[in-house]
Amino acid sequence: MDYTVQEILQFVEENDVKFVRLAFCDMFGSLKNIAIMAGELPRAFADGISFDASAVEGFMNVEESDLFLFPDPSTMAILPWRPQQGRVLRFYCDIRHPDGRTFDGDGRALLRRAVADLEQAGYRCQIGAECEFYLFETDEHQNPTGTPHDRAGYFDTAPMDRGENIRREICLTMEEMGLRPESSHHEQGPGQNEVDFAYTGALTAADNLVTFKSLVRVLAAQNGLYASFMPKPLKKHSGSGLHVNMSLQKDGQNIFVPAGQGHSPQAESFIAGILDRIAEITLFCNPLTNSYRRLGAFEAPKYISWSHQNRSQLIRIPAAQGEKARMELRSPDPSCNPYVVFALLIWAGLEGIVQQKPLGAPLDLNTYSADKAALSGVQPLPDSLGRALQLAQQSDFVREHLPARMIRQMVDAKRRSWEGCTSAEDRDRYERDRYFY
Ligand code: GLN
Ligand code: MG
Ligand code: MG
Ligand code: MG
Repeated sequence: MDYTVQEILQFVEENDVKFVRLAFCDMFGSLKNIAIMAGELPRAFADGISFDASAVEGFMNVEESDLFLFPDPSTMAILPWRPQQGRVLRFYCDIRHPDGRTFDGDGRALLRRAVADLEQAGYRCQIGAECEFYLFETDEHQNPTGTPHDRAGYFDTAPMDRGENIRREICLTMEEMGLRPESSHHEQGPGQNEVDFAYTGALTAADNLVTFKSLVRVLAAQNGLYASFMPKPLKKHSGSGLHVNMSLQKDGQNIFVPAGQGHSPQAESFIAGILDRIAEITLFCNPLTNSYRRLGAFEAPKYISWSHQNRSQLIRIPAAQGEKARMELRSPDPSCNPYVVFALLIWAGLEGIVQQKPLGAPLDLNTYSADKAALSGVQPLPDSLGRALQLAQQSDFVREHLPARMIRQMVDAKRRSWEGCTSAEDRDRYERDRYFY
C-alpha cells in the first residue's frame, strides 16, 4: 500500500504509536534498525535520520561515515510482538548520502534498479519464496543448545511435530503485518519447519523475507526456542533452503505456462539466462562456507540443470496452472541477502530474454543416484565458498551490475571467512561459533 505522509501521521495519531523503527539491511542481509520517537517522524520524512555507517558491516569508512535513512511509506507495519499500548511502527528505509545521492551499498536500491530495468523491457517479475529453518531447544540461560525441538519429519503431525503452535503464531503474526503466508509444514529434518509465501513483486518479497526471519526469531525466543537459518546446522540431516519461485508477466499475462504445454520463448530464455549466470552469482545465493555443506544432498541441487519434476535439480518447473505457473530455483539458502540475490536473478533472466538464449533440454534424472556417464557434460555448481568467490571475481556480469563497493566488501569479507574456515583446526566449530550462535 502506498500511503501519503499525511495519512501516516494520522495513523500514528489514531493508533497510539509511540516509537518508529527505521529498518534497513547491511551488505549481508542482516536487519538493522533505530527507534525514533513518533514525534520525529515528520523530520525523518523531510530530512532523513542520520546514522554512523562506518559501524555497519560493508557500508562506509570512518572518514566518510554519515548516511541518512528515509522511511519508505509503502512498507509501514506495526510490530505485533511489541506492546500494543504505545505501539511500535516499522518502515524499511531508503539510504542516502548527505548530499541526497542514493547510497550504492543499499540492497533495496539495487533491487529497485533491477525491477525498473525489467519493466523497461516490458516485464514484471513475481516472486514467492519458501523459507526453511530449524528450531532448537534453549538452556536455562536462554542460549541455544544443539538439540532440535522435535524428531518429526516431512509433513508429520502432532504430537511428533512440536512446531504446530509456533508455526500458527508465525503465520498469524505475518498476516497481522500484511505478509501473506500460503502454507506451512514440518520439514524433513528434526525441528525443521517451512513457511511458503504468496507471490508479490520482487522488492516486497525481499522486504517480507527480512521481516519473516526477524519475526520467526522473536517468536521462537518468546517460546523458549532458538530459530536458526543456518544452511546446514545438522550434518546428518536436511539443510535449510530458500527456494525462489519466479514468474513473469507481460501485458498482465503470466508467460510461464504449465509443464508440458510449452513455455513462451521468453520464459524459456529467462530460465536459460539464470542457468548461464548462476555459477558466478552463487557467492551471493550461498554466501557462507556452511552453505556448501547443504548442496548436493537432501534435495538441494549440485548441478546446473533443470527439469519439470525432479527435486535434485537446480531449476524445477512445477506442475502448476495459470498464475501459479512458474520456475523454482532451489539453490539459494536463507543466509543470503535477498535484495542482492533477487536483483541478480532478474538481471540474469533479463539478459537471457534480450539475447534470446535458448533453453537446453531438461535433465530428467536423479542427479544423486545417476552414474557419472549420464552427468558428463553437466556443469556443477561451485562446491565451496572459495570456488564461488573465484567465479564471482572473474564475472563481467557481476561487475556490470553490482556497484564496485558491494563487490569489494563482499569479496573481502568472504575471502576472510574462506581463509578463516579452511585454516581453522576445527571447521565444524568455526562454523558453529559464527553461524549458529
Ligand atoms: N531442505 C531442502 C533444501 O535444502 C529442500 C527439501 C524440500 O523442500 N522438500 O533445499
Ligand atoms: Mg517447499
Ligand atoms: Mg521444503
Ligand atoms: Mg520448493
